[in-house]
Amino acid sequence: MSNEGNIEITRRAALGEISRRVAAVTAAPLLLKNGQEKKLGWAIVGLGGLTLGEILPGFKECKFSRVTALVSGDPSKAKRVADQYNVKRIYNYDNFDTLKNDPDVDIVYIVLPNGMHAEYTIRALKAGKHVLCEKPMANTVQECQQMIATAKAANRKLMIAYRCQYEPYNMAAIELCKSGALGNLKEVISDHGFSIGDPRQWRLNRKLAGGGSLMDIGIYSLNAARYLTGEEPVSVSAMSYTTPNDPRFKEVEETVNFMLRFPSGCLANCTSSYGYEGTNRIRVVGDKGFLDMEPATSYRGIRLRYSANGKYEEKKFETGSQFALEMDALSQNVLNASTPRTPGEEGLADMKWITAIYESVRSGRTLKS
Ligand code: NAD
Repeated sequence: MSNEGNIEITRRAALGEISRRVAAVTAAPLLLKNGQEKKLGWAIVGLGGLTLGEILPGFKECKFSRVTALVSGDPSKAKRVADQYNVKRIYNYDNFDTLKNDPDVDIVYIVLPNGMHAEYTIRALKAGKHVLCEKPMANTVQECQQMIATAKAANRKLMIAYRCQYEPYNMAAIELCKSGALGNLKEVISDHGFSIGDPRQWRLNRKLAGGGSLMDIGIYSLNAARYLTGEEPVSVSAMSYTTPNDPRFKEVEETVNFMLRFPSGCLANCTSSYGYEGTNRIRVVGDKGFLDMEPATSYRGIRLRYSANGKYEEKKFETGSQFALEMDALSQNVLNASTPRTPGEEGLADMKWITAIYESVRSGRTLKS
């Protein structure tokens, strides 16, 4: 088999990452030295569906974060939203870099089409701000590397918005897998898909989206296989299908199925589609038990059932906004000078495997790390 994928991710890095995650799960809440509750100021870039539907409403649940600025190319929309959330500062894409003079903005959240993530993340970091960037991190591995290098040079934090790694059900699933309660992990099945609508939207434009369903929704299948096993894959093989003459899929793929092999011997079967009705489920099977999540990664209503030690049980947690949890996590990282649980390197790791998956589809070969 070829080594064309050249995926430079080590098992040691994966294990280091999972211990950081577990430490974060079990740590007591981090407090400021003077015991005061300080809320950091956030600028939200892009006033689209995710910002209006989830992120801005999420601030009311935040303990360490408040929205202090909006960035938009549409002044009247920006004014309307700013009034609604009592936000005093509005920026646009031309004066974006003047954010550097705004002491009320500590963190910039990039919620733009994927193809714009690298540019605006880099500009925000150069303006001296910490950055939370939506998934997928960028369109290419090279862009991800540039974003990480810029954060390092600017001595600012860069976190990728993998909200599922901050919400209680997926964190409990990680713990179940890690605890040995399921025995040795043998199989992960991770399916994510939905039927995409308007053919004119940016998600179906190669330059703005970087690819099709894999970049947008299949990344959940991939990221979950990595965080549930706590391992980095050693090889991948993939197949794709796109309905001929479907006006939605002129530039990007519809469906990708991929298989990952992990060093422990665990295999993952993952799917990603824009072509069929909502699929959102994960199953992990070990030699002593299994867990099922369905829905697994939705904003609300996640369920986790599992069979371990001869018992079949369901976990129940109080839940709220996953976006509040992830925004507060980065605010705490900034306040306490700690490293985000999902730093730029996490986004880069996914992007390397996404690149390998596309290469496997193209070549018909299995790619090894
Ligand atoms: P959207 O289409 O609803 O919003 C995109 C925003 O970008 C709009 O306000 C639009 O005006 C603005 N924009 C600026 N320049 C643009 C351009 N050239 N073309 C198109 N739009 C432009 O998209 P969304 O669903 O809010 O997604 C934004 C980002 O958030 C994407 O990276 C997506 O992957 C990510 N996302 C993440 C989650 C999650 O659960 N973490 C969920 C949805 C979206």
